[in-house]
Amino acid sequence: MTALPLVFDAPKRGLPPRHLADLTAAERAEAVAELGEKPFRAKQLSNHYFSRLSVNPDEMTDIPAASREKLVGGLMPTLLTEIKALACDDGTTRKTLWRAHDGTLLESVLMRYPDRATLCISSQAGCGMACPFCATGQGGLDRNLSTAEIVDQVRSAAAVMRDGEMTGGPGRLSNIVFMGMGEPLANYKRVVAAVRRITDPSPDGLGIGQRSVTVSTVGLAPAIRKLADEKMQVRLAVSLHTPDDELRDTLVPVNERWSVDEVLSAARYYADTSGRRVSIEYALIRDINDQPWRAELLAKRLRKHLGQLVHVNVIPLNPTPGSKWDASPKPVEREFVRLVNAGGVACTVRDTRGQEIAAACGQLAAEER
Ligand code: SF4
Repeated sequence: MTALPLVFDAPKRGLPPRHLADLTAAERAEAVAELGEKPFRAKQLSNHYFSRLSVNPDEMTDIPAASREKLVGGLMPTLLTEIKALACDDGTTRKTLWRAHDGTLLESVLMRYPDRATLCISSQAGCGMACPFCATGQGGLDRNLSTAEIVDQVRSAAAVMRDGEMTGGPGRLSNIVFMGMGEPLANYKRVVAAVRRITDPSPDGLGIGQRSVTVSTVGLAPAIRKLADEKMQVRLAVSLHTPDDELRDTLVPVNERWSVDEVLSAARYYADTSGRRVSIEYALIRDINDQPWRAELLAKRLRKHLGQLVHVNVIPLNPTPGSKWDASPKPVEREFVRLVNAGGVACTVRDTRGQEIAAACGQLAAEER
């Protein structure tokens, strides 16, 4: 067996200083008391951060200046600095490259549709899963992101939407997908805490509905079961990319540890526990995983494990420069989708955004490096 990639590699660099968004409401009150301030200041600070989406001390006029300095200094360190923001699709897609306190680079992408605005966020800087077709996977894992670094991507995008900085005027950030850099379930504790902060009602959190949050995984089966037991209503997306172990061992190397059967049975447990359909993500790659027999096998295995509790999203591969991996031709894609549907499993093609702005996850960070 080949050595598994750097799945659980120790982070190379350190997490940022403690931030308000790392803490539960009770922990925030304690932290404020430790700073020698009245516990109700925690609520005020949370209100600025989670409800007003502000990190600017000058706007916190309900807190006396001396306390403000102490509280912001102790609980609101600057976490992410925007170093590049690129727009495309007529200003309805915006990709941001962030630098963290230690120079770590990460990305998030905001996509506005007629009926919703979705933010794709990173849960790790880099990724240890080593999927060969992915820009992020090529650089390995840099480090886990802290809970607050994950939440702050969302706060910032919510402010962009509210302030009308996207084409279409002011609006509301409605959906979050953990599909940026990293494997969310390899940073389990911080990701679950971030989901709670993102979905807790304001002012304890950002107030986005749990059903509007999607956690995407390559299939860390035990962590999928653990996530199910959190009893949250988030959607689970599993990046399967092929129904057979032989090819999946290559496309998604962690498959050597948890096979397709193990992943799909964990997905079934998630569907049964949450009552929600699971999304199966399938990046269609020319001459690699786009054969008709694989479409048929995919439908068969999904029906067996998940019955009707599943939906397949076919994603035309977003090729990274210099890579041998390419998207399948449209007629091949159409036939693949037709066969999966004919096999009794709902299947559609995911709209891809940001082709002109290095949209494949990790591409912008790789270019910057
Ligand atoms: S495809 Fe996802 S899990 Fe695989 S290396 Fe890229 S970021 Fe990691």
